[in-house]
Amino acid sequence: MAADYTTGVSDQAYPSGPGLRPTTAVGAFVGRDESAFARACDPQVFDWLDHVKAAAGCSHPIRLSGEVATIDRATGRLLASVSTADLPDGEIYKPCGNRRHAVCPSCARTYQRDAYQLVRAGLAGGKGVPATVAQHPAVFATFTAPSFGPVHTQRADRAGRPIPCRPRRQPDLCPHGVDIRCHQLHADDAPTLGTPLCLDCYDHHAQVVWNHCAPELWRRTTIAITRHIRARARALGLPWIVQVTDSGKVRRVPPVKLSFGKVAEMQRRGVVHYHAVVRLDGVDPHHPDAVIPPPAAFGVDDLAAAIAHAAATVAFTTRPHPVGPAGWRITWGDPDKGIDVRPVNADGDITDSRVAGYLAKYATKSTEATGHVSRRLDGDTIDLYANEHGTHPERLIDACWTLGGHRDWQQLRRWAHMLGFGGHFLTKSRRYSVTFRLLRDARIIWRRTETGHEYPDQQNDDTTLIIGLLSYVASGWRTTGDALLANTAAAMARERAEAARDELLAAA
Ligand SMILES: [Zn+2]
Ligand SMILES: [Zn+2]
Ligand SMILES: [Zn+2]
Repeated sequence: MAADYTTGVSDQAYPSGPGLRPTTAVGAFVGRDESAFARACDPQVFDWLDHVKAAAGCSHPIRLSGEVATIDRATGRLLASVSTADLPDGEIYKPCGNRRHAVCPSCARTYQRDAYQLVRAGLAGGKGVPATVAQHPAVFATFTAPSFGPVHTQRADRAGRPIPCRPRRQPDLCPHGVDIRCHQLHADDAPTLGTPLCLDCYDHHAQVVWNHCAPELWRRTTIAITRHIRARARALGLPWIVQVTDSGKVRRVPPVKLSFGKVAEMQRRGVVHYHAVVRLDGVDPHHPDAVIPPPAAFGVDDLAAAIAHAAATVAFTTRPHPVGPAGWRITWGDPDKGIDVRPVNADGDITDSRVAGYLAKYATKSTEATGHVSRRLDGDTIDLYANEHGTHPERLIDACWTLGGHRDWQQLRRWAHMLGFGGHFLTKSRRYSVTFRLLRDARIIWRRTETGHEYPDQQNDDTTLIIGLLSYVASGWRTTGDALLANTAAAMARERAEAARDELLAAA
């Protein structure tokens, strides 16, 4: 489906076919005039704005129609039933929920706020996470990929002053006869940043295979960190804890556990790297899910040492491929440059809110930094983006497509639009913090109390259960005018909320 992200109007603005949308609806706009002016002149416009409020800022809302039933949890009695046919437009609007800023700025902003809350709660407590987590040893670590060939880069000397990209006195000719020197100081937005000095020398195959294997490398790294921490616990002579599970089973577990939250960032050269918060927790013998401080003998240095050791030693070789018969060796970058580990503390430069802000920022991005943005590619669209002799991103996509042609490597084709990376952009271990789900539910409850009316949704409270028997109508706004009106109202509401917050801060 072709989509227009600027106005968010779907090409299915007027779906046809039996039962797809009610023919008459209270407050429905029947004039079919595309202009915002026409909707604004409708006497029901305020009802309509209130109706679409939850999705108003979204560029591509999901429109649903059907019945929403409210049921008493205790008795199972039907308390109320609302048909969307009685609502403005005969449909309800739900935000698309896309996390990517490039797809939906409004939903990405919500996601970013949630990501911030989630990461921060894991470091400072709150949202149901005990405040004592602030005392646990925690580090902020960046895991970088190895080099796949020299690229244009921003460099700095020890004092932090910028120095040229790749200066050499003598010409430095590569096997293709390209002089791979560069005496420039690249600006932050220089389009050459991250692109190879010689495209033909660069190992595009190895890079997309690495992207593809990054989640597995991360998984093995967390296992190695855990092993190292357990060995340290043994060396410190700490006893293993006897824990009784809910089902009554008795087991002996190590006295420390790892919790983490991480985001994947796509670097300009088109390779993912990970920013992670890693925290050490203790183990409560009676409550396996409780988050308690680790034994006092453990410090932040033990955690940093475990991470550095794991990052330097974890490695594996992929299965063979006709293009790479020996397989590809997957490791983190050079130990001196590949990993950066810093303690998170309340008073240093690496504070919980800075770390949370940093992770939340990357959580709404995808491949934008590389200059390549597309949806999943297939046989019909691949030629638009892949070129063996083309630009850096074109060659990376070509590498995914070529290698992914082998039956054991099909996943590379599936994830060609992500340059081979098929992992999640933000993940966390179960006990690290609250969940996105919990933050979402809290927001919906807040929105209900704010607007004073129940927004039909599949969210429930303690005593009632709301069941939606809803079916998908279309995505996107019905008209450009609707998109403009709803987005403008949302932007104004946001500005008012921000102004009110600033005034409160100023008054405080
Ligand atoms: Zn959206
Ligand atoms: Zn350069
Ligand atoms: Zn070359």
